[in-house]
Amino acid sequence: MAVLLPTLAVKHVTDITPEMLHAMKVKGMILDVDNTLSRHGCPIPFEGSIEWTHEMRAAGIKVIIVSNNFKKRVSEFAAKYDLPYLYRAFKPLPKGYKQAMHYLHLPPKEIVVVGDQIFTDVLGANAAGMKSILLTPKDMEHSFSFRVRRKIESPIRRRIHRKGIYQYTKSDHKMHRHHRDDDRK
Ligand SMILES: [Mg+2]
Repeated sequence: MAVLLPTLAVKHVTDITPEMLHAMKVKGMILDVDNTLSRHGCPIPFEGSIEWTHEMRAAGIKVIIVSNNFKKRVSEFAAKYDLPYLYRAFKPLPKGYKQAMHYLHLPPKEIVVVGDQIFTDVLGANAAGMKSILLTPKDMEHSFSFRVRRKIESPIRRRIHRKGIYQYTKSDHKMHRHHRDDDRK
């Protein structure tokens, strides 16, 4: 089960701060695209996410986009962020993570993988010896395969909350209620 647990979980990509990354001792970041920087297949970046990548880079974090999506989608997106990218990466297989590692010029333990999928982003990061931050998907995709995946993910996401891996930030409106629920357990 540990192979499916991220180092940290937060709601949105913009909840990640340079302080979190410094505490994790990472100097490089692998960023997913779909449901991480925008809704699935949507050309519009999440609000504040472009500025957020600039903030991370200003804090000394090297950033690369690694996506399983096609070249057109990934390259157009990377251009908006002015970031290097790898497409058709076949996460969670090791190839894309290895290529990103060479590009970032960092050992795996100094790299954090940021994404919304446990069986893709988190599993691949753990297999590659990298750290990971799991995000909460903003919308549920309607395709059958995605619905199945989310269903399989849900007990693991509950476990991530129970274990205190999920970090509440200002984007969690239900923050206080969740804390009271935790106290009763
Ligand atoms: Mg994704």
